[in-house]
Amino acid sequence: MGSRRSRQRRTLRLDAGSATHVGRIRDVNQDEVGTTEEAFVVADGMGGHRGGEVASAVAVEAVLDSFTGADRASLVRAVREANRAVLERAAGDRDLAGMGTTLCAMAIVDGPGGQGGVEALAVANIGDSRVYRHDADGLVQISEDHSLVADLVRADELTPEEAAVHPQRNILTRALGIEADPVIDSWELQPARGDRYLLCSDGLFNELDDDRIAELVADGPVSEVAPRLVAEAVAVGGHDNVTVLVVEVVQGPERPTGARPPIGAARPERSGGQVVPGSAAEVPGAFLRTVAASIAAVAAAVVLVAGVWSRQGWFIGSDEGDVAVFRGRPSGMLWFGPTFVEGGDLRVSLLDDSTRAAVEQTIDVGTLDEARRLIEGFRADAIAGKATG
Ligand code: MN
Repeated sequence: MGSRRSRQRRTLRLDAGSATHVGRIRDVNQDEVGTTEEAFVVADGMGGHRGGEVASAVAVEAVLDSFTGADRASLVRAVREANRAVLERAAGDRDLAGMGTTLCAMAIVDGPGGQGGVEALAVANIGDSRVYRHDADGLVQISEDHSLVADLVRADELTPEEAAVHPQRNILTRALGIEADPVIDSWELQPARGDRYLLCSDGLFNELDDDRIAELVADGPVSEVAPRLVAEAVAVGGHDNVTVLVVEVVQGPERPTGARPPIGAARPERSGGQVVPGSAAEVPGAFLRTVAASIAAVAAAVVLVAGVWSRQGWFIGSDEGDVAVFRGRPSGMLWFGPTFVEGGDLRVSLLDDSTRAAVEQTIDVGTLDEARRLIEGFRADAIAGKATG
């Protein structure tokens, strides 16, 4: 591969070590980690059946396969390709419908001078897995979490300390596998020899605070760091799958003297390089903005969302004027959000007024069979109504 060959002249060399553990509560490890010599990826999948593990595995493989190594944009394109791969896989398998995954990635790319110049590091992120940098100044989080609590922190509705222990901290506002053209955040960073980068799933930072993570990241050979971080996160809690990937710049430019430039804001963009203004713009919109309006509303909405989170049910609603069955919850978020299951052979407009109103507001049902029985009843009524009317 041409891109690989050109890399042999690279000025940058990275060493990495990774570890993952199912934790002490979950039955299945839905996290995934993957690396090549120049690209490093962590993903944390979610979804019923095998959905979560499939989503993260498909996404990591797609990023590593499609990253061409040219620039920051090519890493973002690879993440976009991963999104397409997850959606395609979900569309082909009913059991995988609604699966999704977070993903964070780092890769060596051509620097500002293009190929032949000093290389840079590109970082891309969607969801709440994190990328940190550790250097002589300590640990700094590069990625921004796409989560409900992170939005509330940005809106000054929660403190970071409250967010860190919030029961709904695992509710995401962005992920792969949810929409055709998600917003991907990215950064380009100037590497320095001795820098260590940490990519991890939330199973790490929900168990260990940043001070402890910083101590462990700095301690010992890079190959030993990830297993130690994972072991400690499991030992103190292990409530979730834990995945850690640590990358060290072992060959590269000296760190410039003086303070390093602060980590810039993310470049959030949809496909075609279209930069999306404001990181909250793409959030399942009105909903979260309303939530952020007041802390009382937050409490109420969080109860609502908690219900969404814990149950993946069925409901009857309208799909472009057709009576349809959806999986998920009508006000659901992301992969617990509604997924069209079936419908298309009964127009909502044929229903009597009260049934039409109910369908338009959505009707919760326990099972697909229940949904089908109800719709059969609607159909019979509609035919009868037509016959008498
Ligand atoms: Mn997780």
